[in-house]
Amino acid sequence: MTTINCSLQTLDQTIDVLRAGGAVGEEQVVLWLAPLSAVRPPYPIVEVYRPNQITDVDYFKLPRESLRALMTHLRAKRLKIVAQVHSHPGQAFHSKADDEWAIVRHEGALSLVIPRFAVSTTPANFFEQAATYELSAQNEWVRAPSGGPSGRIGVTM
Ligand SMILES: [Zn+2]
Repeated sequence: MTTINCSLQTLDQTIDVLRAGGAVGEEQVVLWLAPLSAVRPPYPIVEVYRPNQITDVDYFKLPRESLRALMTHLRAKRLKIVAQVHSHPGQAFHSKADDEWAIVRHEGALSLVIPRFAVSTTPANFFEQAATYELSAQNEWVRAPSGGPSGRIGVTM
């Protein structure tokens, strides 16, 4: 089971990006990155990466150049993707498109969906509001029990 440690700053930065998208009525996605050298959980999140993206009210897409830039960044900084976090205009859930177009595709990868463009999301309620999914060995996105990752995601100050 994947666990992570993230800072309040990680949550603040993430909320800022998601809200900025919401202000113009569009979804946003960010990636939470951890050092490649962190080989077992809990993974420390050291960067909130916002890839170049094409967005609309109910989807986001990463053009090929954006994926290439992401890979170059990961290699140069020796980082890896632990989780993707994106906003929805309404309820938080993994849509069929989210299943298909997930940027992270490795077993144990996390995908968090934040409802209502993060308008009422704070670091304190982040993981209660988020619908959290983990990619299983069978390549299926499995929702974390009770909709929250309590005990699975630590927040450090
Ligand atoms: Zn979605």
